[in-house]
Parts: sequence; structure tokens; C-alpha cells
Amino acid sequence: MMEHNEEVYDVTIIGGGPAGLFAAFYAGLREMKVKVIEAQSQLGGKVHVYPQKMIWDIGGMTPINGSGLIEQMIEQGLTFEPTIELQQTITKMNKLDSHIFELETDQQKIHYSKTVIMAVGAGVIDPIKLDAENASLYENSNLYYSVKSIADFKDKTVLISGGGSSAVDWANELAPVAKQVILIYRGDDFKAHESDVSKLARNNVEYRTHTEITALLGDDSINEVKTLNNQTNKTDTLSVDAVLVNHGYNRNHQLMTESGLQIELKDNYFIQGNVLGESNIPGLYGAGDILSHEGKLHLIAGAFQDAANVVNCAKRYLDPEAQKVALVSSHNARFKEKNKEYLYTK
Ligand SMILES: Cc1cc2nc3c(=O)[nH]c(=O)nc-3n(C[C@H](O)[C@H](O)[C@H](O)COP(=O)(O)OP(=O)(O)OC[C@H]3O[C@@H](n4cnc5c(N)ncnc54)[C@H](O)[C@@H]3O)c2cc1C
Repeated sequence: MMEHNEEVYDVTIIGGGPAGLFAAFYAGLREMKVKVIEAQSQLGGKVHVYPQKMIWDIGGMTPINGSGLIEQMIEQGLTFEPTIELQQTITKMNKLDSHIFELETDQQKIHYSKTVIMAVGAGVIDPIKLDAENASLYENSNLYYSVKSIADFKDKTVLISGGGSSAVDWANELAPVAKQVILIYRGDDFKAHESDVSKLARNNVEYRTHTEITALLGDDSINEVKTLNNQTNKTDTLSVDAVLVNHGYNRNHQLMTESGLQIELKDNYFIQGNVLGESNIPGLYGAGDILSHEGKLHLIAGAFQDAANVVNCAKRYLDPEAQKVALVSSHNARFKEKNKEYLYTK
């Protein structure tokens, strides 16, 4: 049975990645009643894919790794105490007669909101799982779909499966810390940047093409992997301490195409909006990677700008008399008490 959350929010943000978190902050700054709904059990979005990578291209921020950025984005996003709903995937959206959006989740919950900011990026992050016998048994031991900590691979023999830039990149990055890195790919040509592929040999990465995993062997953790050369049909057994699978991500387009609203889309997925992030549906906006327009910047910095733009639009949609933008933070009275905290206690 559906559970209805009767409270109506000024703005509901779908997705708790960079765009959603900055939108939550900015909407709080604009004194809106805010809810964030995130499919995963944690906020931070796609940055969870690369927690150990250094990020250099956010204006005014010195290099920071993904997990450091997530921490800071969450702290900022929660500044004005928005309601956070985790582990709920929005599956349907509708607009009721009274211009209230009705959002339905996979957990049989209904949320109501006067405006909606879609900050869903490329959709729920769902790594393509290894298609090999018993693979699921090792997900809590030494079968990895992402690198949470490089230290997990220190002095280990690591088998990486995948042929894209992520697999090649990790082979090169783990090589100096691991005992040995073996990279296998079922295709014939790695789909990564040429200079990264040529680094493999320099980093002593052993790489094999036309090779795929057929079985993982071990009791509590994997200690051997069976492989097959799909050209020669030759099989091999490799002794390993860890397996990292980088086979890409599933992208669920269902919400965008079957949401219940006739959202104008680009390539059957992205919101075809204007430079302010407005969609063809009044009161519904796109921010971050989901948004498409000719000036769109597909960077975290771009997601932050989209977030401020769409919050300003939502604010004026609800109150046409409202200021176009919020007062800058250095002059904004909303920070008066918080500034004291920073100036005198931190
Ligand atoms: C390996 C890698 C390295 C990168 N490096 C950089 C870099 O150095 N600098 C840079 O600027 N950018 C970088 N990027 C790009 C950057 O991560 C993205 O541009 C950014 O994360 C987009 O933010 P977003 O909030 O739009 O979407 P996302 O980060 O994708 O967040 C979307 C969130 O929405 C949630 N969601 C999706 N659908 C639903 C639903 N139906 N219901 C509820 N929740 C939902 C998802 O679970 C997710 O948490 C990198 C990307 C990758 C993959």
C-alpha cells in the first residue's frame, strides 16, 4: 500500500550528487522548504565512483580527492537542515490539478512538492556486475567494483577486468602500490586514451586482450581466477589477491521516458532545458549532468551553477515578487550566527 507524506515542500530535489547538494544549500539560503530524495544509501552522487582520485578543476578549491569533496559537499548541503530521504528511487512523477507535483518512489512512498529539481545525473549508479559463477559471494571480501581506498591493493596481486579508460587508469595507478597488476579485456583494443595505454608497459602491468573471467575460486575470498582466451579457447588459472571489475555502468532511462510527465528530452534521456535549467514543464527544472543546453558545462563547477540558477527560478515561480538571486553570502544575514561559530570557535 502507498504511504503518503502529506507535507508539501517548496522544492524537492531528486538526486543527492553535486548538483542536488548545492541546490539544497542554495534553496535553504533562499528560505525554501527543501527535501532531497536520493536512491543510494549515501549522498555524494557519482563522485563515489572515484573517491581516491584528485579533483583539480573546481574554481577556488585546491586539489581534493573525491571523498574529501563529498564530505564538504554534504556538510554544505545540510547547512539549512533539509529533509533527506535516502534509499528511495523516484519511479513516477505527475502534476496534480492544483499544480502540486506527486512523486512516487520504489518504496511505495508518495512525496508532494510545489517545484521539482531533477539532479539525477546519469541515473542511479549501478555498476555492471561480473558475469561469472559465484561472483556475488565475494562482493564483501576481495571482489571490487570501485576503488574506495588504494591501500586495499597494497602489495597485492590485482586482476583488473575491463577495457575502458577506468580499467586502464586504475591499472596504471595501482601498479606502483600493488605487488603485480594484471589487466584483462575481452575485446581486442583498449578503449582508453593512447598515452594511458602506452603507460601500461612502462608500469609493468601485464595485459591480455581477448581474455575474460570464467570463474572465481576461493573459500571466503578469491584466491584464483579462471580465464578464457576467446580467440584461442585457451584457459588459464591465475593466483590473485584481489579482483577489480570495471565493466561500466547500467543507465536506467525509465524515469525520464516513463515518468508520467511529457518532459522534452535530448537523446531520449537528458532534459532539454534552457540556460537557466527550466524544462518545458512549469515548476520542473534540471541541474547537473541531466541538463542539456548549448552552454552546458559538464563539470562539477557547472553543476553548481545550474543548481543556483534553478533554485532562483523555482523561488520566483513560487513568488514572482522574490529577488532574482539570493543576497551574496558575505552580506547575507542568514549567516550571521553561523559566522560567529566559524570566526570564534573553528
Ligand atoms: C571517473 C570520473 C571522474 C570525474 N572527474 C571529474 C573531475 O575531476 N572534475 C569534474 O568537474 N567532474 C568530474 N567528473 C564528473 C562529475 O562527477 C559529474 O559531472 C557530477 O558528479 C555530476 O553531478 P550531478 O549531481 O549532476 O549527478 P551525479 O553525481 O550523477 O548524482 C546524481 C544522483 O542522483 C541519484 N539518482 C539518480 N536517479 C535517481 C532517482 N530516480 N531517484 C533518486 N535518486 C536518483 C543518483 O543515485 C546520484 O546520487 C568525473 C566523473 C567520473 C565518472
